[in-house]
Amino acid sequence: MPPVDAALGLPAEDAAFVPNRAVIDPAAITHNTAQVRSLLSPHTALMAVVKADGYGHGMLEAARAALAGGATWLGAAHPASGLALARAGLDVPILTWLYEPETGSGILPHLVSAEVDVAVSSLAQLALVESAAREVGRLARIHVKLDTGMGRGGVLEADVARLGAGARASAHVRLVGAMSHFHSADALGSPTIDAQAERFAHMSALLESEAGPVPIKHLANSAATLTRPEFHFDLVRPGIALYGHAPVPTSLDLRPAMTLTSRLALVKEVGAGQVVGYGATHTCEEPTTLGLVPLGYADGLHRAASNRGHVLVTTAAGALRAPQVGTISMDQIVVDLGPGSAARPGDEVVIFGDPATRPGAPRAEEWAEAAGMITYEVLTSINARVRREVAQGPTQGDDPGVLGAASGQAAAGGPDTAEAPAGLSLSIPTDGPEATRRVARVLAHHARAGDLLVLDGPLGAGKTTFTQGFASALDVGGRVASPTFVIARVHPALGDGPDLVHVDAYRLDEDWEVEDLDLDSDLDSSITLVEWGRDRVEHLSDSYTLVELWRDGAAAAPGTIELDATDTDPDNTDEPRRLTLTFVGPRYGEASVREVADALRGDGFAVSDATKEHA
Ligand code: ADP
Ligand code: MG
Repeated sequence: MPPVDAALGLPAEDAAFVPNRAVIDPAAITHNTAQVRSLLSPHTALMAVVKADGYGHGMLEAARAALAGGATWLGAAHPASGLALARAGLDVPILTWLYEPETGSGILPHLVSAEVDVAVSSLAQLALVESAAREVGRLARIHVKLDTGMGRGGVLEADVARLGAGARASAHVRLVGAMSHFHSADALGSPTIDAQAERFAHMSALLESEAGPVPIKHLANSAATLTRPEFHFDLVRPGIALYGHAPVPTSLDLRPAMTLTSRLALVKEVGAGQVVGYGATHTCEEPTTLGLVPLGYADGLHRAASNRGHVLVTTAAGALRAPQVGTISMDQIVVDLGPGSAARPGDEVVIFGDPATRPGAPRAEEWAEAAGMITYEVLTSINARVRREVAQGPTQGDDPGVLGAASGQAAAGGPDTAEAPAGLSLSIPTDGPEATRRVARVLAHHARAGDLLVLDGPLGAGKTTFTQGFASALDVGGRVASPTFVIARVHPALGDGPDLVHVDAYRLDEDWEVEDLDLDSDLDSSITLVEWGRDRVEHLSDSYTLVELWRDGAAAAPGTIELDATDTDPDNTDEPRRLTLTFVGPRYGEASVREVADALRGDGFAVSDATKEHA
């Protein structure tokens, strides 16, 4: 059970005990990105638009998957999203474009520091970005947004010259881009598309005549990217297509990346005349079987779709498409399973997904149509009450998303001396010993008796520091110090939790036995941390966590350090270090690793998939 405490920011409920899932297939996003990429000339870059939490798919997962498919830029409406992307260590140009002075003045300095690009639509916005740049003493990279006819963001033609002159005159900004947005790119053949493109050329020229050459021009959203190659220019900004939904007919193979699932809570036989739901909008004409699904408009399934959508129910007798009947409630819907149905409570219900991988599954488009909405709304409406989960199985392909299976590859930095074990890997930067201790405390909160942690890294990497942090989160006695001359020390539990066993395996030879440690505690009832334990103690348990600590800048990887280095540099007490956590064995399912990753993020750490960074 996850720890429960009274800290602010706890979600209202633990999604583990709610059956609703938005299952995200990062491989589909990677595939779709590569599909879109195949339409582009080598001179055109692809910005994956990951606004609105990656169109509801989870921003970081979506961003990583798109980068794996050939995106080289990321875009998000909110500066706060841009900052989160930058802090997650996604090392590509990032653009954001929607802010106002009150919150903007708070976040723009961070954005400029993180070298995230900002769109500017007015002299007032220019002044805001300039003052942020001045504050942090760095040049802000800006894209001037041109209003070519959408009447939303962007500078009007009459004001372009003044904004260009302002950008030129500023010592604090660098103009890197000019951009605009189509209002009807999905209305194929609409004369407005060409009219906006013409105006974009004209306004860009005006801007350049004041401000000098603008290196990156970009205009195309998904629809224009798919249909108007002449408007690709330097960069395209697809969004919806990357998630597997084409806004226009296309020959590309686009695969929906989100599957929304639930489970039947109740199944009952009813007679003819049975009324269903608020307002009695449905009456069963024949005897039938009704299924109750615990997902409703408070999860993002719009009420306007009532009595129009379908779901796919997988029963013991096969899968069936069942109509949704009655008014959609806040927490639940009812589906008509037909007379004599084999459906049982607990059966899986797919509300929408990819019919290519789940034959019969409704597409998100069908729910959009049923509700009189667009697919974008269906995807982004599925809210935080529905847990996101990364898809398992063959469609996952070689891109496992945020939690990478580290099989075969070095988990981080590719130490040549040791092959990385297969497992789920997280990578976390720390900026000093206290941060390393905090990471350890989070792990300690998720540890239990019998757990084994193998600490690897050169002398002075922080193995003992990590152990100190770990111990401080447990109720155990004794001061944790470097155990170098004692090999092992037991820190006895003070309450009814497990003991902590701290081992330095450096002096253990090849064929030692656990008994040689002569412990007063057995490993099954303790949590055991072993410094220098790599390739020595893994066999003690069927599952273990490998904690690798890296001193950034040190050329050596764990295992390759010169062991006669006597001590750490005493002047360097606060150094950035990278921690890689690899969870190996049946003890660690994807959900439990995700829980640790979420807790670390909740504690302010940037957590990324270690397999991605050094692959
Ligand atoms: P090890 O046990 O791996 O030999 P120690 O934990 O004994 O290493 O020593 C690590 C040293 O590095 C400590 O002095 C600690 O304060 C310092 N240090 C500086 N930055 C960090 C960091 N980010 N994480 C851990 N330790 C750090
Ligand atoms: Mg040590």
